[in-house]
Amino acid sequence: MSAGRFFVEREIISSADSFSLPVAIAQQVRQVLRLRAGDTITLLDGTGIAYICELQSVARDDVRACVCDRSPLRTEPRVRVSLYQGLLKAAKFEWIVQKGTELGLTRFVPFASAHSISGLEDVSAAKYSRWRSIATEAAEQSERGMVPEISMPMTFAQAVTSDIGDLKLIAWEGVAMGTLAAQTIMETVYTHAETSGMLAAISIVIGPEGGFTSDEIDLACQHGFHVVTLGPRILRAETAALVAVTLALSAAGEMGG
Ligand code: SAM
Repeated sequence: MSAGRFFVEREIISSADSFSLPVAIAQQVRQVLRLRAGDTITLLDGTGIAYICELQSVARDDVRACVCDRSPLRTEPRVRVSLYQGLLKAAKFEWIVQKGTELGLTRFVPFASAHSISGLEDVSAAKYSRWRSIATEAAEQSERGMVPEISMPMTFAQAVTSDIGDLKLIAWEGVAMGTLAAQTIMETVYTHAETSGMLAAISIVIGPEGGFTSDEIDLACQHGFHVVTLGPRILRAETAALVAVTLALSAAGEMGG
């Protein structure tokens, strides 16, 4: 069993029989994992292949390895689930990125809406880069074959008008208050699978702490989104995001069994 799993740029692995590890990974291998020549690590290039690599030399300024085996990873869901998440306080959004990656999300799309606490201008390059590294670490830990994409933040209108999922869901707690009839996520996925057969991509939209306006719900419905309920209790946005992703993946047969 390899000691460490790391995503690397595709060209590093394919370049030659023997190659140098990127500096950050070399440091982890040498100083954190304290590996030596002869030990193995797993490198992933995001295509769903795991490369078992043997360390050839572990020096202060260079750690070299070569591929000694490769195998397809079976951890990637067949159904691509995209989570459109209203911008939240930093820690909450980071938590969703980590847990959503573990669950098997393919893509995160942060959006600003009428009630989101922050706007697009609040997403700095540093914050975006932090989200990417959280997703990469979570993908390595959960033995994923790829790192979920984190798209640049957009407006709610851009999100619901540009989505191309086979099945589009928007979770609204307004249903809980009896203002609108709606199905559960499981019912919606099963009904879609029965009627149209093809279910390759599911899009889920979860609002910010302040929820959606009724105009935003109407706009989503005009663009093919189904309003779904997550039950009679009002969930925090981060809870709702993970419950919705779990229910969708489970209904699509992507949570084992
Ligand atoms: N509007 C309320 C508020 O201001 O506190 C609740 C918003 S809730 C914290 C954030 C998001 O979680 C909602 O926009 C919705 O997408 C989702 N959500 C929470 N509870 C839900 C439920 N019971 N059914 C459907 N969606 C729910």
